[in-house]
Parts: sequence; C-alpha cells; structure tokens
Amino acid sequence: MWTPEVKTHENFTLWVTHECNMNCVFCRDSENQPIKGFMTMEEVARSLTHAKETGIKTVLIGGGEPTLHPNIIEIAQMSKDMGFFTVITTNYTKPESIKALDGICDTINISVYPENKDSIPSQKNFKSNIYLKVLLYKGRFETKEDFDAFIDRYEQLTPNMGFCCMRGHTEWCEEHKDIEWLNSLPIEKEVMTDRGNPCWIYRGHVIDRKDLSTFKKAHMMVDVRGLLFDKQGKWVLPEESEAIIE
Ligand code: SF4
Repeated sequence: MWTPEVKTHENFTLWVTHECNMNCVFCRDSENQPIKGFMTMEEVARSLTHAKETGIKTVLIGGGEPTLHPNIIEIAQMSKDMGFFTVITTNYTKPESIKALDGICDTINISVYPENKDSIPSQKNFKSNIYLKVLLYKGRFETKEDFDAFIDRYEQLTPNMGFCCMRGHTEWCEEHKDIEWLNSLPIEKEVMTDRGNPCWIYRGHVIDRKDLSTFKKAHMMVDVRGLLFDKQGKWVLPEESEAIIE
C-alpha cells in the first residue's frame, strides 16, 4: 500500500489502456482518453522484463480503467509471477473483475467517487489489501465534519484509505483545488515524499497535498503507445523508447 515513505524510483506504472467507462471532470488522464486500445500481452511482457532489469519492485497497473483490458487478470498474474508487488487502481465499476483479481494483486486501490460510494466492498471479503483513494477538491466535503463522517463510514469497511489533493492540471482543477476547511485540520504530522509532496497524517490516514507539490521526481511509466515517462520526468517518444524498454 502507498505510504509517504514509498521510493518512487522503485515503482513502474503500466498504463494498460487510456479508455475509461467514466468521464470525471478532474481526470488526470483526460488528455490521453481519446487514445483507444490496449497494451498487447507482448508489450506488457516486454515492459515488465525491462522493469525487472531496472530494479523495479512495485508495478502499478492503471489507466483509464484497467479492468476494461480483456487480459487484465493475465497481466496482473504475470506481474505477480515475476515477483513484483502488484497494485491495481480501479474505479470499481466492474466488481466481478476486481473479485477475480483478489489474491493476485497485493493491493487493490479503489477510487471512491460520488458515483460508486455506496458499492465499496469490505476488506473482510478480500485477501488483497483494499485501499480507498479519495480525491479532495472544493465541494467534495463541505466541512471538516463531513470529512470526518466519511472517514467514520469507510473505516468500517477498511482501515486503509488515503486522500489526495489536486494539482491545477486543468481549468476545473485549478478552480477547485483550494479547500477552505483543509488548512485548519488538526493534523498529527507532516511527511515529505521523495516526489516533493508534503503529506499530512490525519486520523492515521495520509492526505497527499499534491496542491503544494514541488514535483521533484517522476517514476517510470509505459502506456499503450509505448511512451515512457523516464526517471527524469521526461516523455520519451516511441522511436526512442525502444532503446529504453529493451
Ligand atoms: S475513473 Fe479515473 S480514469 Fe476514468 S475518467 Fe474518472 S478519473 Fe479518469
């Protein structure tokens, strides 16, 4: 599970698709969503082999919505069999696919949205760690009391949850990133991640203040176009990526 102590350079993100069955206004992947298609199993195998050779420990399977990939179980199993700590992030619109990934993925990150808030599963029905990821933006919780009520409710399902503020990566996000009640929250401590994000700990849960990030480090990613985001945070074009993947 993600903690502020995670070493970003040990992570590798496999964007198995940019397609999604939701259309969130704050989507970080919105500019990529017109790109259709899925990583082939060959591309997945090649990327994972490269990740292994590079000393990667954790594979983050994401998208878009990764459960739309027709081979998602095979992909997770391949990652697990290669010895990676395997994490998938999902909007939990395909609960049957998530159930099939139980015990294969080490952690299942479920993004909790207003649309799926009433269907979040309980940790007690899963072998994998269920980690709830909650985006914070203006209007999501009107007051600290609303925020506390959310934590009270979902702690009954799983002890593992984390909150994340937004960078202003779109106009909507810029307008909604400042949350009035957040700055006066009585936090327990502040931890700095290796990516330059201050993380607040509140009631034992992390609030990733990406809105205050200095974003010093990226980590390696690969997507359906074979694009890589290298360790220096530079996008590498497909022609060049051959040299990096192989
Ligand atoms: S569910 Fe996730 S990937 Fe899909 S539109 Fe929403 S934020 Fe983007």
